[in-house]
Amino acid sequence: MTKPRSIGITGGIGSGKSTVCRIFESLGVPIYYADDRGKYLLKNDKGLVESVKSIFGEESYLADGELNRSYLAKVVFSQSSELAKLNALVHPAVAKDFEQWFNEHSGHSYVLKEAALLFETESYKSLDETICVFAPKKVRLERVLLRDIQRTVQQVEQIMDQQTSDRLRRELTTYSIQNDSESLLIPQVMKIHKEILRSASN
Ligand code: ATP
Repeated sequence: MTKPRSIGITGGIGSGKSTVCRIFESLGVPIYYADDRGKYLLKNDKGLVESVKSIFGEESYLADGELNRSYLAKVVFSQSSELAKLNALVHPAVAKDFEQWFNEHSGHSYVLKEAALLFETESYKSLDETICVFAPKKVRLERVLLRDIQRTVQQVEQIMDQQTSDRLRRELTTYSIQNDSESLLIPQVMKIHKEILRSASN
């Protein structure tokens, strides 16, 4: 049996990655949600939990085994070297988990791996192709503020500043999806779906 093609799907905060993924899901495409899975592994992967405790201290976890998010956020966002250390633990764990998941989906023509920082972490290099969702910053900001009522304009803009630019995303991506207030999503997804199926069958 031939291996499925592995396609990354990414885009800036609020661009509409999850919305686009739901359309691909309705077409029967399996999707690995790397960010959600990373959170799951931080709680449930014993090896990862031990590594985090040994580097950032026992207080990285609460008594009930939950990740002490506020403590860890304070530590890693105060110094970029600490964030790099945490990423160096989480990324290999997610990569291994993805590999296992990928092997369990061998019957499909292609699978998607959704990750917010696909280009920033360079994990796109281990995938066959990428899809990137684009929307103007102003639209993304409005959508995120509507979705996440606890977030402020400043917080969302700070996240946008930490992410890579749309210019670089356009340079690196194989397929682009425009998700502004005028473009229709479903026809764009269908076109890419057909293109991937065609190239997967060649
Ligand atoms: P994040 O990076 O924060 O996870 P995301 O890229 O996954 O965000 P979504 O959660 O899919 O983005 O979309 C952000 C918000 O915008 C959601 O509330 C979603 O319902 C809404 N949204 C997405 N696309 C559209 C659209 N074309 N028209 C109107 N609202 C949209």
